[in-house]
Amino acid sequence: MFGSNFSRRLAQVAVLLLFVAASTSGHAALQNPSSAFSPAWQRPPASATPLAPAAPTRADILRGAYGPYRVNNDLLSYHLDIRVDPEQQSISGKNSIRFKMLADGTRIQLDLHPALNVDKILFGATTLQYVRDSGAVFVDFPETLHAGQEYTIDFYYSGHPLQTARFGGFTFGKDPAGHPWIYTACEDIGASVWWPNKDQWRDEVENMQISVAIPNGLVDVSNGKFVGKTDLGDGYTRWEWLVQYPINNYDVSLNIGNYVHFSDQLGDLPLDFYVLPEDLDKAKKQFVQAKGMIEAYQHYFGEYPFQKDGYKLVEVPYSGMEHQSAVTYGNHFTNGYLGRDWTGVGVSPKFDFIIIHESGHEWFGNSVSAADRSDMWIHEGWTTYLEVLYVEYTFGHEDAIKYVNGYKSKVQNREPIIAERGIAATPPQDMYFKGALLLNTLRSVMNDDARWWALIHDFYQHFKYQNIMTEDVVQYFNQQTAMNLTPVFDQYLHHTAIPTLELRFNEADGTVDYRWQADEPDFAMPIRVGKKTDWQIIQPTTYWQTLKTPLQKNEFDVATDLYFVNVSKQ
Ligand SMILES: [Zn+2]
Repeated sequence: MFGSNFSRRLAQVAVLLLFVAASTSGHAALQNPSSAFSPAWQRPPASATPLAPAAPTRADILRGAYGPYRVNNDLLSYHLDIRVDPEQQSISGKNSIRFKMLADGTRIQLDLHPALNVDKILFGATTLQYVRDSGAVFVDFPETLHAGQEYTIDFYYSGHPLQTARFGGFTFGKDPAGHPWIYTACEDIGASVWWPNKDQWRDEVENMQISVAIPNGLVDVSNGKFVGKTDLGDGYTRWEWLVQYPINNYDVSLNIGNYVHFSDQLGDLPLDFYVLPEDLDKAKKQFVQAKGMIEAYQHYFGEYPFQKDGYKLVEVPYSGMEHQSAVTYGNHFTNGYLGRDWTGVGVSPKFDFIIIHESGHEWFGNSVSAADRSDMWIHEGWTTYLEVLYVEYTFGHEDAIKYVNGYKSKVQNREPIIAERGIAATPPQDMYFKGALLLNTLRSVMNDDARWWALIHDFYQHFKYQNIMTEDVVQYFNQQTAMNLTPVFDQYLHHTAIPTLELRFNEADGTVDYRWQADEPDFAMPIRVGKKTDWQIIQPTTYWQTLKTPLQKNEFDVATDLYFVNVSKQ
């Protein structure tokens, strides 16, 4: 899939590098063109990331850092208004960006992938100057913008967006019947791969209009509420969508195809489904799972976060993505994940993994969002745990414990879950599975399900529609539980190893010595031990303590399905 585009891309890279080098001269803050010679899209995909990650590129730093020309403003709204030409494989149009200045200044940073042209940037009738530096576009104003004031600029652009990165970037494809099938998926490379925006995670617009002109006969499904369509009289129709909530840049999406539509309702919540005509019957059967999924998550966390925008599932040829209120779906209308028993313990075949996982992101990822890609476990660890909650709600506790423990075999423990901040780094896959196992462990640490359900419900409600970091999670948990869970979070998130419960038996005395072996010197976590039918809770720390037990070494169990830990018996 990548091969066919590779030489075209190399040629583009060469041209762009000349441009980057030329355009950055004379700006002290931007000098260091040599580091621009390894753009992110030349690097291998995430799955091939070596243990010691390569030094961040200049592009990574410009995209990942919340630099001075980002911190000086606060996004209010976008109106993305574009035309997509399937024949030319091109896009053109503008994004009207409304923002409030937080400090006086004459420059802001926006982002647009170097493969795309900046046509002009207008501030009212004034054409603004700008400087491109890899993916960044520094926009300069002729006079000072004042703190507290709101401003709008119109950023015109055009070109051939790249099909790239793990999820495809912007893809001009065809459906099996030969109709255009065009879609975006850009969480890793960033939304600026196809449209100009402030491409970072910390700041989100409050709302967004998406206007997409496409050839008559095709359908565009984007995020938010469908507002209407207008025949432009030139063979194109403009589709209008309105997002009435904060939205991550990477969630903003186009799905253009020969879609048919059917709808349903869950209480007041409109459910809309868009699939290829040949898949309509299968979809009508498979997508009934959406209702049970929403009911399960509403049970644990409260109302679906994007009520006014509705919930949509949109068929795509890749596996799926959590695009806000327009979740994309490519799981072949079968249960499990791409036909497999995903956690290998017989539970996954009972439900459609993509519907359950990607829609879980509406609560964690889209509503509660991480403020830096480094802390993406807030999206993926939580959403993987939401799968477990869905299983518990739908199939019972026993299946849920089986399901979450099925994830243990996928944990690698090679890199910490939290990646380096400020460089648009991708955390390791452990953020999903180990993240969910950490949350299952914390439930056991609480040892009071009623309090656990209240805690995760209130945690979600407290942080919904916000962008947070791990420190916010830990602080909230500590406050609400009156426990010091910091060393527990730190051990699982900032170190590679999970804690080991060391047990030394002295059968002659009828005692066992116990302690945690962990990287965090203050690591302390209660755990259930002894007899499976009658657990006893001990409070190990990293210092040896002694417990009297009538149990022999081989009879003494540890509840390792409730806590993600190693056990060493001597
Ligand atoms: Zn996910």
